[in-house]
Amino acid sequence: MDYRECVLCPNMCRADRTRSRGICRQGDAVRIAWAGLHRGEEPPVSGKNGSGMIFFTGCPLHCQYCQNRQISGSDGLDYGADITVDELASIMLSLQGDGAATLNLVTGTHFIPSIIEALDMARGRGFSLPVVWNSSGYERVEALAGIDPYIDIYLLDCKTLSRDTASRFCGRAGYADAVIPVLEAVKAWHPYTDMDAMKGTILRHLVFPGELESTYAFLRFFAENYRDSFYLSLMTQFVPPLGDPGFPPLTEAEYDSLVDMMEELGIDDGFMQDPSDDDVLWIPDFTRDVPFPASFADADPFFLSLKHR
Ligand code: SF4
Repeated sequence: MDYRECVLCPNMCRADRTRSRGICRQGDAVRIAWAGLHRGEEPPVSGKNGSGMIFFTGCPLHCQYCQNRQISGSDGLDYGADITVDELASIMLSLQGDGAATLNLVTGTHFIPSIIEALDMARGRGFSLPVVWNSSGYERVEALAGIDPYIDIYLLDCKTLSRDTASRFCGRAGYADAVIPVLEAVKAWHPYTDMDAMKGTILRHLVFPGELESTYAFLRFFAENYRDSFYLSLMTQFVPPLGDPGFPPLTEAEYDSLVDMMEELGIDDGFMQDPSDDDVLWIPDFTRDVPFPASFADADPFFLSLKHR
């Protein structure tokens, strides 16, 4: 795996990233937008002190609703700073030194070769945190297989299985075709999830407004294929794209219908976001020293356990 003729993600641009950029808008230098502790993730990932986040700049998807649009490239912006692999390894060690529960690599798909190199370097200097691969699910199995031996917890999105919904929200109808082989591969590599042992997969699904049928289809698919292997994380934090007020928030009745459906399907390992957190400013501002609201410093504030709902 390298950056010449890049085929790291399903876009398969074959860009020579030593000279130009592909759809992810990134060259061969690692670029990160922010690193630090964050307690807004699912409880096992956040732990007591927070997860040690590294947000990589750029993304192979260009979702229209992207909450990290300042850094993902969705708006043509790629806020962040280029760093060396050695500096990336030092950041990993520094997060460990700050007491992070986990190392959380956010949207690292397009930098897999450099991240592997940095993890090797960091381990050689005493790094030992559980490593979380926090991804859109828009991956190539062949590339993911290269970093899999370094990953303890997959925090993967499954945004939708519908090509229409993927086209509307993710800007890539092919998302739906790409994500299923990824889920199958991850399940084959890690058939069980044990969050006490910090191993396995938490599969995230964000409910899109007006697309409840897509969520119902996803929940049935999850129950049939992954209920015994993965935890579920059902997210309801959708924030309308900038300047687009045409998305109604999820109603209480719709939320309750999701809870009922999960009960009927026997899905009880995992988490769902607490609808009472409706005043949270979910969209980070990466131009600030700390992009997240102060409430993200609270312990486990945003997820309810499915077992205790
Ligand atoms: S990682 Fe970037 S350059 Fe490589 S195939 Fe994907 S979008 Fe293209």
